[in-house]
Amino acid sequence: MRKAIALQPIRGRPLELPLVYQHDFWGGFEFAPGNGTSGAQLIQKARSFMPDASTALVAPSAAVLARFAAIVGPGGAITDPADQAPYLKEWRDLYTGRTPMVLRPRTTAEVSAILALAHEARVAIVPQGGNTGLVGGQIPFEAGTEIVLSLSRMNRVRHVEPSGTHIIVEAGVTLLAAQEAASRAGRLFPLSLASEGSCQIGGVLASNAGGVNVLAYGNARALALGLEVVLADGRVIEGLRALKKDNTGYDLRDLFVGSEGTLGVITAASLKLFPQPAEKATAFVALAEIGQVAELFARAEKAAGGSLTAFEFLDDTGLSMVLDHVADTRSPFTDRAPWYVLMELSGARADGAMAAVLESVLEKAAEDGVITDAVVAATLTQAQALWKLRETLSEAQKPAGGSIKHDISVPVALIPRFITEAAPLVEKVCPGARPVPFGHFGDGNVHYNVSQPIGMDRAQYIAGWHAMSDEVHGLVVRLNGSISAEHGIGRLKRDDLAAVKSAVEMDVMRAIKAALDPRGVLNPGKVV
Ligand code: ZN
Repeated sequence: MRKAIALQPIRGRPLELPLVYQHDFWGGFEFAPGNGTSGAQLIQKARSFMPDASTALVAPSAAVLARFAAIVGPGGAITDPADQAPYLKEWRDLYTGRTPMVLRPRTTAEVSAILALAHEARVAIVPQGGNTGLVGGQIPFEAGTEIVLSLSRMNRVRHVEPSGTHIIVEAGVTLLAAQEAASRAGRLFPLSLASEGSCQIGGVLASNAGGVNVLAYGNARALALGLEVVLADGRVIEGLRALKKDNTGYDLRDLFVGSEGTLGVITAASLKLFPQPAEKATAFVALAEIGQVAELFARAEKAAGGSLTAFEFLDDTGLSMVLDHVADTRSPFTDRAPWYVLMELSGARADGAMAAVLESVLEKAAEDGVITDAVVAATLTQAQALWKLRETLSEAQKPAGGSIKHDISVPVALIPRFITEAAPLVEKVCPGARPVPFGHFGDGNVHYNVSQPIGMDRAQYIAGWHAMSDEVHGLVVRLNGSISAEHGIGRLKRDDLAAVKSAVEMDVMRAIKAALDPRGVLNPGKVV
């Protein structure tokens, strides 16, 4: 049965789309999860029904641009192409956008005035933090009609709670600066990712970022106690509460976390703090098989419980890239292994308990043949050297040529199956391509990056992005996983969303978008 529904007016007018992908599609004639049909076919089919992602909102007139510039004052509006360049290109080189103006407000009132004007004039706004996003959500489209709203000048720490429960920071505060503000107060803000020196709290929350400590402390969503948000029409939700428990109706905060700038602009956040660990025990472990990584994780979790604060993994292809391309790195082992784990335990007392638990887990694992080798850091410097091997892996892939990236999650126990079954799919799409799987094993989160075959033309390889990601994501769908574990949807995965969400979920997301941004001015063509 074919029906038509009105969708969110992404191109400035309601779109009539056939409902076929929503009912017939999942009803089984094309595909039902688990019936053996290729997941890649599902994704290709769903994509063909998505509306065009390019924005067709009106280009702002010179008069409107002058009004935008007046809101932020001298130095707050960038129109020179050379000065705009850092805001228009993301570091993976996938997208280069155009804009008539980059706005850099200093206050929530200025953001409010900007959005009120955008709403009135129907001008699209693309909010941007540190421009470290990995799915193109922060980059305007090539049409050049969208205004970039950079939050980078809203970079004040507004409040450090003396009791240590929370800090209130503005959206443009970098993650590192937020960690340091917590640290100066003798507390811990645990969110940690490779880009922490440049990514900003607003973007971190808008993309619900994860990183290496999610296992113990949760992702950005779990760490946000309250938000200040400017709505699409300029009104402000002053929700900077610091309550752990608050059951007063719908949770508006959670709507904006992970909304990627499509529902409102986060201007400040109240962030949850934790006690600083007094002891950390860090080990780098060598293993022969991916199944043994899963076995080691099960043992570590059982022995350490909530003290297991990191369980990261990478393979020998990844370690080789780090050793080849990152200065001041060396292998912890003389005999290399197919797989490596970086694990860390954190404890509240400096009594050696964490080191004892770590060593006993590793000794027993070695005895049982689960691991082939392990080094335990004796000093903080050694621990940092081990962490460097894991944290520089993303940048180490750049010199190895083009890389097609996937940020997937599956139930932890299914990671070995995912790794094993993804490899032949990759080889089928592009013979010689080199999988570099790594990531946050304990969270079920694999960064399944695939580097180009040695000697292949980079552009030609990257042109095959969707052909490969359709296969990889198809496998993820079959394993009941997620095609975006911590990077978001943005532009890159927008067209795949309908394939992995039910029709009902898509309807609800579009209804929320239409309710909060009826004119579609906030980051159009992203997420939904
Ligand atoms: Zn990650």
